[in-house]
Amino acid sequence: MAPDEDKVVVIGSGIGGAGCAALLARKGFEVTLLERNEFPGGKGVSFEKDGFIYDTGVHAVGNGEKGPLGEINRIVGGDLEWALIEGGNRIALGDKVAHYPLDFACDDAIRSLIDGIGVRPGNEEDCFICFKKLATIKPASEMEVLDRMPLKDYVDQFTDDPNFHLMLNATCGMLIVLTYYQGSAGEFIHCFATMAQNASLSYPRGGMGSVAKAYVEAFESMGGTVEYGRPVEGIIVEDGHVTGVEANGRVPADIVVSNAGLQPTVKMVGKDLPRKYVDWATSLKSSYGAVSVKYALDEKVVPYPLTLWMPDLEDPEAAEKYVGVFYPVPSIPDPELVPEGCQLVLAGAVLPADPKLKELNRQVLDRIEATMSMLHPGIDDHVVWKLRTGTDYVANISGRELGEVIGLAQDFRQVGHDRPDPRMPIGGLYLVGADAGGRGIGTEMAGDSALNVSTMIEDDAFGRDKGLEV
Ligand SMILES: Cc1cc2nc3c(=O)[nH]c(=O)nc-3n(C[C@H](O)[C@H](O)[C@H](O)COP(=O)(O)OP(=O)(O)OC[C@H]3O[C@@H](n4cnc5c(N)ncnc54)[C@H](O)[C@@H]3O)c2cc1C
Repeated sequence: MAPDEDKVVVIGSGIGGAGCAALLARKGFEVTLLERNEFPGGKGVSFEKDGFIYDTGVHAVGNGEKGPLGEINRIVGGDLEWALIEGGNRIALGDKVAHYPLDFACDDAIRSLIDGIGVRPGNEEDCFICFKKLATIKPASEMEVLDRMPLKDYVDQFTDDPNFHLMLNATCGMLIVLTYYQGSAGEFIHCFATMAQNASLSYPRGGMGSVAKAYVEAFESMGGTVEYGRPVEGIIVEDGHVTGVEANGRVPADIVVSNAGLQPTVKMVGKDLPRKYVDWATSLKSSYGAVSVKYALDEKVVPYPLTLWMPDLEDPEAAEKYVGVFYPVPSIPDPELVPEGCQLVLAGAVLPADPKLKELNRQVLDRIEATMSMLHPGIDDHVVWKLRTGTDYVANISGRELGEVIGLAQDFRQVGHDRPDPRMPIGGLYLVGADAGGRGIGTEMAGDSALNVSTMIEDDAFGRDKGLEV
């Protein structure tokens, strides 16, 4: 069948769904995009309040223009623009602060970072070698072993320096939102080394929501149809092949691409999936969640575009009172997000993904505020408004029960060959987004998946059997 004879329904307009819909439209498929929210973007959306444009998440994009999100935009002819996040990015352990440039894997930058975080005398060279290896892209032949190794075990081969370990554990939390006991070394290296090579850490102009918005606009300009406020309740299967979806009425389709996540998609299919597959899919773990405090400020209080701060290991009192915080200041790379002279600070911290843990969510939010007030005295005097969001907020926006940050965890037991195949075991049914089909940091994994899965669907439609390399 030629693409224009295949009717495709894409469920969900997160970055993965919106990107895939636009790429498929570009390839000539007839595509309908159904979104339960009244807006596109899923976890990557932005809202406006009193002249401040803020994100639902706490976002920075690892490779901006040079990564998969930039690539999709070029292919579909979107109007997405990027601002580099540079000039003063920091990582800090208590009052030990290291600034790093965009090309953070150059020898001088590594030495200055190692010095800044205060590794023990005598450990500098081992830490240098480890950092250099982590920041170097590996051939596919090495990745299979690395994928199945926890990042901590990888670092242990080089050094036991406590500050170096703490810094990498926190960086693992920032990039793949897992501890380094769980996070896959292969997945971490892929993210870290690609960023080091591209030196293109960026923020989408106009807010994180600009990404899905640009893809959807391009999609519509190619004749694609988007329906908001249209949740899909079920996927219709006949004789082992999809024939459409149930969304307050039947929408026929030859191909269904779900951006709703593996486990919700399994539920939407129901009894037609093999029991063994359902059990396996249900057993997979999600990444951690995050809570965030969004500060709209009437003055520029924080002078750094992006900081990852952790309490000092040697200060138990600080560890009790404060929490590790990741806080980009999107209005530094993109001043148009805020009224003249103002500032937007998004401060996030990681915790188990589960909206039912209300008390824990509240405690971590309190600690974020205590940490920000300690690090930036006076911040509270300049608040125009402040928004505290828990894992329930992310769950509501993404339609996923747990409100996890990324999607399925990049745990060493479920990446590479152990990641779900985007082809589900029902003819014509595919997954797209952070759960399957890509590598990278959150938004970029969803984008990488959109690139790979759209090619896979095209190959399948033309009867070309090309395996997927992720
Ligand atoms: C606090 C926070 C901080 C983050 N920080 C970063 C960061 O710094 N860098 C980074 O790269 N990533 C970051 N991420 C992660 C990133 O936002 C996500 O991994 C990525 O956006 C996931 O995209 P996705 O396409 O997989 O799906 P999602 O964003 O989950 O979108 C799924 C879409 O499907 C829709 N949907 C679901 N079910 C249905 C249904 N039944 N019918 C119709 N529509 C449906 C949803 O409404 C949603 O629009 C962060 C996320 C959070 C929450």
